[in-house]
Amino acid sequence: MADLIVQKYGGSSLADAQRINSVARRIGRSKDEGNHVVVVVSAMGNTTDDLIQQANAVSKKPSEREMALLLSTGEIISCALVTMALRSLDYEAIGLSGGQAGIHTDSEYTRARILEVGPERILKELREDRIVVVAGFQGVTESMEVTTLGRGASDTTAVALAAGLNAKICEIYTDVEGIYTTDPRIVPEARLLKEIGYEEMMEMASYGAKMHPRSIELGAVYNIPIRVTSSFTDTPGTLIH
Ligand code: ASP
Ligand code: MG
Repeated sequence: MADLIVQKYGGSSLADAQRINSVARRIGRSKDEGNHVVVVVSAMGNTTDDLIQQANAVSKKPSEREMALLLSTGEIISCALVTMALRSLDYEAIGLSGGQAGIHTDSEYTRARILEVGPERILKELREDRIVVVAGFQGVTESMEVTTLGRGASDTTAVALAAGLNAKICEIYTDVEGIYTTDPRIVPEARLLKEIGYEEMMEMASYGAKMHPRSIELGAVYNIPIRVTSSFTDTPGTLIH
């Protein structure tokens, strides 16, 4: 089988139609290079914050169950749109919700943890040579309740899928060039790290790309190399390994 790459795109990389189209072209390039590609997407722009505001506007204390159901829709929107954009470029692609993609979680509705990844559906689609686009940040419980994984957790979906599918690498595309030793917005000579170890990444205060901590833990446990880089440029970014 060809190499499998998992790519994750954050909300700012998907903020509008133009960015979604440019993300689709980047995904397509990876496919053209002969890889199997699984893509994990976050919600577009500030969608998640907007949904939380909407919940708070109708209820003083929104129920956790429906909050998870509500927030999961943000990633479903970007998943469907990225898939459509890929198809309009003539790529075979299919979009899956977290549950459809086999992300099984415990039942802490809005702070769920992934218990297991059931890779069968994704593997079937990859065998048919499709690009698989998965809605990040969500899963389902044993009883098919929709859950979300906590703010910023699409990274964790991506690394969990990379582990469950035995991917060669997990690429995280964001709006900064990678991980820095100091804050590049404050210290102009802040240095972009070419690489960093999982342990160091977990212990050190790092700047630049903000990664969901659980994604680094999973990367360390399953030994998945994680490349963090910008979706707006062509730079190698930072390799966490
Ligand atoms: N959309 C979710 C959030 O804003 C998850 C993510 O972006 O990773 O927290
Ligand atoms: Mg993030």
